Amino acid sequence: MSAPFACRACGGRDVERVLSLGRLPLVNALVEPDSEEPDERYPLDVVRCRGCTLVQITETIPPDTLFRQYAYFSSYSDTMLDHARRFATAAVVELELDGDSLVVEAASNDGYLLRFFAERDVRVLGIEPARNVAEAARAQGIETVTEFLDEPLARRLVAERGTADLVVANNVLAHVPDLHGFVGALRALAGGRGRVVIEVPYLRDLVDGLAFDTIYHEHLSYFTVTSLKPVLDAHGLAIERVERHPVHGGSLRVHASAGVTAGDGVEGLLAEEEAWGVAGVRRFAEFAAAVDALRGELHELVASLGASGATTAAYGAAAKGVVLANVCGLDSTLVRFVVDRNPEKQGKLLPGVRIPVAAPEALVRERPDYCLLFAWNLAAEIVAQQAEYVERGGRFIAPVPTPRVLAA
Ligand code: ZN
Repeated sequence: MSAPFACRACGGRDVERVLSLGRLPLVNALVEPDSEEPDERYPLDVVRCRGCTLVQITETIPPDTLFRQYAYFSSYSDTMLDHARRFATAAVVELELDGDSLVVEAASNDGYLLRFFAERDVRVLGIEPARNVAEAARAQGIETVTEFLDEPLARRLVAERGTADLVVANNVLAHVPDLHGFVGALRALAGGRGRVVIEVPYLRDLVDGLAFDTIYHEHLSYFTVTSLKPVLDAHGLAIERVERHPVHGGSLRVHASAGVTAGDGVEGLLAEEEAWGVAGVRRFAEFAAAVDALRGELHELVASLGASGATTAAYGAAAKGVVLANVCGLDSTLVRFVVDRNPEKQGKLLPGVRIPVAAPEALVRERPDYCLLFAWNLAAEIVAQQAEYVERGGRFIAPVPTPRVLAA
């Protein structure tokens, strides 16, 4: 670290190193096959603030570089659509939303959530800086502002339309460099009575599941209730309740609003996190040691299969695959190709390791002996879809938490 690092939540400079994953390319920067430019790499170092416990990476890539042309469309995933539909249905009932109500979502993506409110004639407004994704939302009738959310924008929107009954920020807080500016904007949008709902990947699930491949440059902060609460408190937002959900490897959904007292369950969660070790070094030192061991074991497994004459491919050209391949030193000599259902990725190369991306049919056509599950969180779904590959003798490899060949 050149300049002294300041914690994104409390501003403190007393931070300790948790883990270094080396210099990695940006996970969404897929490479054209004829590119001769070297892939840009940035340090991926994880630190923990001793003041407020927030775990975060030290490097901040400007959001404009990362998110203006975003490759992730939420509506591609059935699991995410289901999760969104259930949330919207429950929120309409709980908050008694009707045609006079307003729901605003920050980082509204392609309208995957707001459409379920619009279907019930609730007024909606999306805020989505990625132009291509915002365009997809407008195409289905979801009004969308193409800007990054900050306090001036929030004040302008409130002046135009009034405060919102519900403000949603799903899977965006981890991406935000200016945490307080962003949370201040959520508070301004919700005013004195609106509900703010924030979903973030849960650090406890990441550490316990050894999901180090969800650490990449887009994710600046890794939250617990312990580290998130003071950020919300600073803007007068009290946590009414917290839910845990399995999406994205384990997430927290936090319901907060101004002018209420903290819910009964919050103290219990804080105590649970303290017992888990959120404020100490031991849990994180064990995590770092386990990640280091896994890096070596996965490389060794794939290299030894190759040395014995077997071929290996992989499944899933998303962020997790880019991190796993780069961190474990799996290049195109070890992993011949990676298959992915997204046609926009096919024909390109994974950044850093330059593994070519093919359509899923390549598994049956090329018949690699092994297929490494980069998208290991979707293992059951993928293995079920690839019955023909398995029938023809193909075997899957699960990388996490212990690299192993799955039984056919
Ligand atoms: Zn801090």
